[in-house]
Amino acid sequence: MQDEIDAAFHMEHIVARQHRGPMTEENLALACSGCNLHKGTNLCSLDPDTNQPVRLFDPRKDRWEDHFRRDGARILGITDVGRTTAWLLQFNSDLNLLQRQAILEKRALD
Ligand SMILES: [Zn+2]
Repeated sequence: MQDEIDAAFHMEHIVARQHRGPMTEENLALACSGCNLHKGTNLCSLDPDTNQPVRLFDPRKDRWEDHFRRDGARILGITDVGRTTAWLLQFNSDLNLLQRQAILEKRALD
């Protein structure tokens, strides 16, 4: 099963070099290719509920559990930061849901 899941990661600049993000450990994070490509150089986006600009989740400064919760294979944003990040990075795209479901089913068998 693991062979069927794209486990290649990108080295993501949290603040993109385009916005003077430094090449330091505090500004780098591992991201799956899908998340990294959807994030691009964005620092914020529009909250899908309020249409107001909101910064994105920072994996070095924010705590995942403060902004997201999992409902089965879905990752739900529970704050404006969580909703906006989940929407922009398409956490719940059909492909991501299929991959996450496969991981959860494998874990249930282990
Ligand atoms: Zn991802």
